Amino acid sequence: MTEKSPGGALRKRELSQEKMSEPLFHSCAPRLFYVRTFGCQMNEYDSLQVRRQLAALGYESVDDMARADVIFLNTCSVRDKAEQKVHSFLGSLRKLKEANPQLKIIAGGCVAQQLGKKLLARFAHLDMVVGTRAVNSIGQLLQQVEKSGGRAAFLHDAGITGTGSGCFEIAPQPGVTAPLTIMQGCNNHCAYCIVPAVRGAERSRRPEEILEEIELLEGSGVKEVLLLGQNVNSYGAGLGEKISFAGLLRRIVSESGLLRIRFTTSHPKDLTEELMLCFAELAPLCKHLHLPVQAGSDRVLSRMNRRYSAGQYLEKVRELRRICPEIALTSDVIVGFPGETEEDFRDTMELIEEVRFDNLFSFRYSDRPNTRATAFEDKVDEKISARRLAELQGRQAEIALGKNLAEAGSIREVLVEGPSKASNGQVSGRTSQNRIVNFEAPLSSTGKIVAVKITHAYLHSMVGEAIVG
Ligand code: SF4
Repeated sequence: MTEKSPGGALRKRELSQEKMSEPLFHSCAPRLFYVRTFGCQMNEYDSLQVRRQLAALGYESVDDMARADVIFLNTCSVRDKAEQKVHSFLGSLRKLKEANPQLKIIAGGCVAQQLGKKLLARFAHLDMVVGTRAVNSIGQLLQQVEKSGGRAAFLHDAGITGTGSGCFEIAPQPGVTAPLTIMQGCNNHCAYCIVPAVRGAERSRRPEEILEEIELLEGSGVKEVLLLGQNVNSYGAGLGEKISFAGLLRRIVSESGLLRIRFTTSHPKDLTEELMLCFAELAPLCKHLHLPVQAGSDRVLSRMNRRYSAGQYLEKVRELRRICPEIALTSDVIVGFPGETEEDFRDTMELIEEVRFDNLFSFRYSDRPNTRATAFEDKVDEKISARRLAELQGRQAEIALGKNLAEAGSIREVLVEGPSKASNGQVSGRTSQNRIVNFEAPLSSTGKIVAVKITHAYLHSMVGEAIVG
């Protein structure tokens, strides 16, 4: 692991707890918090930080939000549907506040950053709005609001920057796999995307900080990390030390004992040969790449400001498969982007046929505030985009099922994550290619890699038998 001063991470954790542990309350009964997360894995990670900070302040997590003293809602505005869910959930909390006026309701995440004080104005029962960079200071900000008894919005332009660190040392991370944010923000400005507006410009965390967090996660039993960033391929820019994302991966492999490493998300234009080679050379790096293509038409890609052509994307896919033939590829597609013609959509379908993705996340385009595409006038009729989406998803389901069926009879290494969701005595884990496999094995195999022969395959999972001996 990284070289540290005597006491290293442990002392840092103690110092951090000293700083964080000014009591919020003095009653014997622990105060309870409830966290609800909408949206992406970055939000899941931020929610984890919130949980850790509140736990360090003596709060206990509760599943029943009606019992909570603090409710934290982590919001997502990437898609219109997710934002609508946030508004309706926030509205539904009014009755809880009326029943318990001491309840503190906090909105964090992208909708909070985007709407700021407007959210406070719209929901009178909301106590705090915390922007995307302020979430790392949630404990301190909650104390501030509890003391003042008022309501407040903490956003980027209010000077709250958040450290991106200093909170992760506090509580053990349960589970076999853990998310780990290595960078925030994005510099790409795709025409449909709200992320640069709400998460700001790219900021990478220092490698030492990432390695320390991995050491702590490993100490609490984590075997696999999922490195997160809006565009991990451009990790390191502006850090003041020369390190690429591939360089970071190599350091993590040589300085940690992790069984597996995954990452997401990658921008195709920044996928380098150096990174492709990591898949062939670094054993713990899972053979799975999520590489969002968004469309198969060059005209649409150009209007989206993606800065690659379909041909360039396909060329990278070919090169990657040459370097690492067993790699699984997944992607995102937006259907019905403004101006998308039937011919453009056919280009997307052709690309899907050519690549044969292992899995695809596809969505209908929706206007997002503060994005360029919102001003595009040639919107696609909703019925047409719904029909195109159904066609795309239908074909993709056939491809994905075919790929899973082809796995039958093969032997795969599965990292066991815990009991199967079906509660049938089986355990569940993932292959390096990110396929879910359920099979009979003792629960004590959790956290271990087990060789499994695949016996049955379905669209979203597979069943197998552990190879004994
Ligand atoms: S790369 Fe494009 S789609 Fe991805 S976060 Fe950045 S602006 Fe949004």
